[in-house]
Amino acid sequence: MENLEVHSFLKCCTRMWKKLRTRYLEIMHEPAFQNEFQSLLRDYVGRPSPLYLAKRLSAMYNTPIYLKREDLNHTGAHKINNTIGQILLAQRLGKHRIIAETGAGQHGVATATVCALKGIECIVYMGEKDIERQAPNVARMKMLGAKVVPATSGSKTLKDATNEAIRDWINNPVDTHYIIGSVVGPHPYPDMVARFQSVISEEIRWQLKEKTGSELPTHVIACVGGGSNAAGTFYHFLDEGSVELIAVEAAGHGVNSGMSAATTQLGKPGVLHGSRSYVMQTEDGQVVEPHSISAGLDYPGIGPLHAHLFDSGRGTFLSATDEEAVKAAFLLTRLEGIIPALESAHALAALEQLQLNEKDTVVLCLSGRGDKDMGTYMKVMEEQTI
Ligand SMILES: *Cc1c(COP(=O)(O)O)cnc(C)c1O
Repeated sequence: MENLEVHSFLKCCTRMWKKLRTRYLEIMHEPAFQNEFQSLLRDYVGRPSPLYLAKRLSAMYNTPIYLKREDLNHTGAHKINNTIGQILLAQRLGKHRIIAETGAGQHGVATATVCALKGIECIVYMGEKDIERQAPNVARMKMLGAKVVPATSGSKTLKDATNEAIRDWINNPVDTHYIIGSVVGPHPYPDMVARFQSVISEEIRWQLKEKTGSELPTHVIACVGGGSNAAGTFYHFLDEGSVELIAVEAAGHGVNSGMSAATTQLGKPGVLHGSRSYVMQTEDGQVVEPHSISAGLDYPGIGPLHAHLFDSGRGTFLSATDEEAVKAAFLLTRLEGIIPALESAHALAALEQLQLNEKDTVVLCLSGRGDKDMGTYMKVMEEQTI
């Protein structure tokens, strides 16, 4: 279904879409664009985000571990880096209506935030089921002035919200810009979003140099939903063969449990939402419903960049279960006084699986803070499973 949607979009709206495809790089390189982007990242988002040597966590794994603190950004995660970039781009393309899709509501909040900042109309598509599950983020989006539209088809979650957003975009190609929240979707989104998020690894290089004398860690680790925080964390290390790139997917109840979101382990090549990549699908190409305790990793695909890193062997793909992620979240909280997002906790859980020693230097992207996950954490404490 979603593939047909994109194909009809390609046919009927080629002209408007072409404007985005042909102009995004040129606009992103304009000095005035860069000035505004950089000053908003600094004064509004709070960048550079700190690179923090987590001493007690390091002692536990016998290796220096630096946390890239995207959790300290305005709105609590890395997603704002991309929405700031895209709202500036949309303005320069003359768009005055913004649409977005959201699962847990994090990307919806980041989009509604920049629309409020710029006084631009904002419509966020969200699965009906997610609207029920994520009430605080729905309230935030509404308070920020966005209209939240329920997606009522299919499983009523992220995939269906994305279908609705694409459908809207097909019908409103002239005045509307679609802000996609990860390195997925049709070209140029995977490339464009990776470039906006690449500020993460740009900062890591000079921050690590300041702290250790070398710009290059031995390992960089990030969780992968669609793959935008991982793409940003890996970006400036892609051509540095000595840096191991470690992507951590959500195994849910276990890779082979039927309740998982480990796309590289379970997926096959296919087209989803306008790009060819690995997709969790049945024999006849129906998208399989993924599962993860963290809504941000609960997506049946990954960005094409990550499919390439997986196929080429440049990236190492690991996975962590719901239980391992929760355990890692409590460990970080008790050792460092930092409550991480459940998504980021998957990256932390991978530390258990790596053979690290004191000569290594590990940089781990703490993609977001755990405020939004307190409901889940409270349940764990009540059940005393930790
Ligand atoms: C959305 C989200 C993710 C997953 O998205 P990516 O595009 O894979 O980065 C990870 N961490 C947090 C905190 C998120 O909000």
